Amino acid sequence: MTVTEVGELESHRVLVGQEWVGSLSTETFSSIDPYTGQSWAEIPKCGPGDVERAVGAARLAFDDGPWSKMTGADRGRLMRRLAGLVDENAEELAVAEVRDNGKLLREMRGQMEALPQYYEYFAGAADKIGGDVIGSSKPNFFVYQLLEPVGVVGAITSWNSPLLIAAYKLAPGLAAGCTFVLKPSEHTSVSTILFARLVEEAGFPPGVLNVVTGDGPNVGEPLVSNPGVDKIAFTGSTVTGMRVASAAASHLAKVSLELGGKSPNIVFADADLDAAASGVIAGIFAACGQSCVAGSRLLVQRSVHDELLSRIVDRTAAITIGNPMDLETEMGPLAFQAHYDRVVSFVDVGLDEGAELIFGGKRPDHLPEGLFLEPTIFDRVENGMRIAQEEIFGPVLSVISFEDEDEAVRLANDSSHGLAAGVWTRDIQRGHRLAKAIQAGTVWLNAYRMVSHDVPFGGYKASGYGRENGLEGLREYQQTKTVWVETEGLVRDPFRLG
Ligand code: NDP
Repeated sequence: MTVTEVGELESHRVLVGQEWVGSLSTETFSSIDPYTGQSWAEIPKCGPGDVERAVGAARLAFDDGPWSKMTGADRGRLMRRLAGLVDENAEELAVAEVRDNGKLLREMRGQMEALPQYYEYFAGAADKIGGDVIGSSKPNFFVYQLLEPVGVVGAITSWNSPLLIAAYKLAPGLAAGCTFVLKPSEHTSVSTILFARLVEEAGFPPGVLNVVTGDGPNVGEPLVSNPGVDKIAFTGSTVTGMRVASAAASHLAKVSLELGGKSPNIVFADADLDAAASGVIAGIFAACGQSCVAGSRLLVQRSVHDELLSRIVDRTAAITIGNPMDLETEMGPLAFQAHYDRVVSFVDVGLDEGAELIFGGKRPDHLPEGLFLEPTIFDRVENGMRIAQEEIFGPVLSVISFEDEDEAVRLANDSSHGLAAGVWTRDIQRGHRLAKAIQAGTVWLNAYRMVSHDVPFGGYKASGYGRENGLEGLREYQQTKTVWVETEGLVRDPFRLG
């Protein structure tokens, strides 16, 4: 048992090897429900010693444990069992995520329903990992390549979709044969701990998944710097990602980075404006804008600016804000106080920069308490302004007008980020031209905010490197080994290469 109910307060432990333990210091920290403002769970406050212990368990499992001897088919079987358990426990996992980060129950239910597909998809790949025979030009040699797991993975996740983002890493990594030390954000630890229970229940050998909870400096940094870790899979902000890449370089761990964005949602005059307005709202107000792919810059062709904005404002005014557990709610609170303060501060930044606030910008009148902010729209934004360049990670839309296609592309690419983009047009040729011209890892044509286990996802530029999901995601957890086999039994000149 890992959960004990103490009145309303849950008390959790973390999984290291085959044991559920507290932190070595025995210290804990609280998880705060952003809707009620109350602490609802106590979590072990791990430190460098706990990380060392977890990496040791993952190392042992990778190098010597039963996991290292399992076939791909064995791993796939365990992953399918895990997928079934996630499905059976989806509601408990969804509720834990809502209590931790305040996102909507209806959104988190959707994510938990999708989660098993990640483990099933990669379970299907686990027993199909082959290699290549190389038709080498060297006579008398048979050369082949093996695809082997990279080893122990340190996985670090952000707070906005903890289990989905973990699945992007665990599902391909487990299929490849890696072992993991997983560190969730200190703001959202509970669902990851509950998930680890299911991994254990599915029958994964000890040490294949270890969880360490705590903050970035005391858990994240020691994990990234630990020479027992072969690869870091990181999701978080660009600033932290840079720090992670540089610390991982100290022992040459491989790194994949899924970082922030400032994604353009581009609407041309010939678009279906109802569909575009809905896509713009999905892009920035779903999940309260706390989404890496948030379409936080609306680029709109000047001739339809007023018409599109009036549709967006009408729908925005009808957004239901309130309790994230209520299935009618469309926007809940922001995730935690420091984040709320930062997002709200950008309203003043926009005003100071001379943008025109046309909607929102303050706490909703009917919610005098809690971390609520109205959906907020700034018009007449210049692309050089901070509200058009910096990731706000909240429900703040910056509207920028453009004249023609060339200007739209120039504005879209005038950003240090390159995670995603939306293009709304009925002109199929223009759609494909834009898809090619935009510097981003994902481009949606006449759609927004689509992700799937079988479709690669990742960033250009400061939005990171590496790809998650799809078979490309599996390759991130593999390395190739080349084997040369001499077939003639010849004695070769020792002083000649090749
Ligand atoms: P942070 O960068 O603040 O934190 C991400 C994770 O890194 C957390 O677990 C954090 O721990 C940990 N961490 C903090 N400092 C260090 C360090 N020095 N070394 C190692 N780990 C560290 O991001 P947020 O959690 O605030 O997440 C929001 C960001 O994530 C946004 O920028 C968003 O765009 C991005 N994101 C990107 C996605 C993508 O796929 N591209 C998807 C989702 C989010 P702790 O919080 O406990 O301190």
